[in-house]
Amino acid sequence: MEKITNIVQAIDYYATATPTALAYDGEDGQFTYEQLKQRSDEIATFLLENISTEGPIVVYGGQNFEMLVSFLGCSKAGRAYIPIETHTPSERLQLICDVAKPALIIETIQAIDHEIKDALHLKTIFSREMTTHSTQLLSPVRLEDTYYIIFTSGTTGVPKGVQISHQNLLSFVNWELNDFNIEQGERFLAQAPYSFDLSVMTLYPALASGGTVVPLTKEIFNDFKRLFEALPKMNLDVWVSTPSSMDLCLMDPSFNGKTLNTIKTFLFCGEELTHSTATKLVERFPTANIYNTYGPTEATVAVTEVLVNNDLLKEYDRLPIGIPKSDTQIMIMDEDKVLSKGKVGEIVIVGPSVSQGYMNNPQKTKEAFFEFKDAHAYHTGDAGHFDENGMLCYDGRIDFQVKVHGYRIELEDVDHYLNQVSYIKQAVVVPKYKDHKVQQLIAYVIPNENEFEKSYELTKAIKAELAETVMDYMIPQRFVYVDQLPLTPNGKIDRKGLINEVNS
Ligand code: AMP
Repeated sequence: MEKITNIVQAIDYYATATPTALAYDGEDGQFTYEQLKQRSDEIATFLLENISTEGPIVVYGGQNFEMLVSFLGCSKAGRAYIPIETHTPSERLQLICDVAKPALIIETIQAIDHEIKDALHLKTIFSREMTTHSTQLLSPVRLEDTYYIIFTSGTTGVPKGVQISHQNLLSFVNWELNDFNIEQGERFLAQAPYSFDLSVMTLYPALASGGTVVPLTKEIFNDFKRLFEALPKMNLDVWVSTPSSMDLCLMDPSFNGKTLNTIKTFLFCGEELTHSTATKLVERFPTANIYNTYGPTEATVAVTEVLVNNDLLKEYDRLPIGIPKSDTQIMIMDEDKVLSKGKVGEIVIVGPSVSQGYMNNPQKTKEAFFEFKDAHAYHTGDAGHFDENGMLCYDGRIDFQVKVHGYRIELEDVDHYLNQVSYIKQAVVVPKYKDHKVQQLIAYVIPNENEFEKSYELTKAIKAELAETVMDYMIPQRFVYVDQLPLTPNGKIDRKGLINEVNS
């Protein structure tokens, strides 16, 4: 596919080339490229006419068309946007707004609770109220401008906002459109929430190639009956998800290439694609192309790829994460030293899709990013090595960051919130692994005096309190109550010791 030089122009091109083609096909309606352009132009004009305060714009919603038009509207008005999903607890929303200082919050499908709104002291507006009769000359985001900001978990309860520039996004989108046999007008699965950067793997490659975004809401995805009724009707060409979401789908035998005969490409990212998941998938979809891709939000979704087929499955017990995209260099480092082939060290990414850093956080930016030969470089915190075939292999984390169902979590972040729960004196969370994947988060807790008779009642109360501050995927599944926590010789909580104990 021809190289794209501007995301906004690439999307608008289809409003003229294929105006009646569907940009979006969901339960909330079918919308064409012409409608996408008209609505996003309107939102952009509204922003230019009415919002003079500087700063990014929060876009709040779920899997709905108004999210897409709001993103594009922001881009056309030269604004970076911050996608926030509706299940976000109010405390996190507040923390994100404290860091980002947005000029405005756009509500798309659902209004933010009144009390929270009052506490935020920010202007909010419903996207469908953003109408205007005038047409203004738009001023879309330039290549060096921030296109979007995605917030990830931090270590001390303060989320980090990864700033992705237009240029970063172009590097990613051009790679996806050219290395994965994507053709014009394909139908892409949109399942990951927009606050998770996996969603970018669907959104911009689909829209910049005249394709259709086909959403699957959380409600349907979590309801097996509805899910398997819905999937065959979606006529997907390109499947995008985490391997964990795939594991759920594979539980149903009807999830195969006969029932879903339009799917020709599977793109996975966000966590380890295990040998067993890949084997089942190759068996069920023998003619599809299945790709494992790897990358952090800080380097725009993904930077390596490998085609998963029977040969690869035969050769590797633990699947490699593949080769870097052509504009990107990957170095394996130990501190400042670059290691040779075969040695395990930290995966460091250098290239045009690497972010310039975290928003308003010079300290964290300095810790993780540096300049290397005129390009941005990022310390992933992932351990890895290049094997004899030149394939990059993932060897786990070198810190306490984990993935639960593809969601990135800093264990210290969970500790921070656990230790604020009123029933807890002290707590630490540890991951329990199966097949190199986190199966459960287990909290070891010294409880405060309490009146609960049974421990499950205490657990229920703790979970409820925790849900007010953290995303649901950060809530530990198991709670173990203890009188004291094990300590290292220098008096810190011995998390590593507990991790070994739990996983032995
Ligand atoms: P996120 O920023 O949410 O995309 O998370 C990035 C982290 O997810 C990486 O630093 C890895 O630890 C992990 N990750 C992403 N893709 C893969 C993969 N294909 N295999 C193993 N781990 C992965």
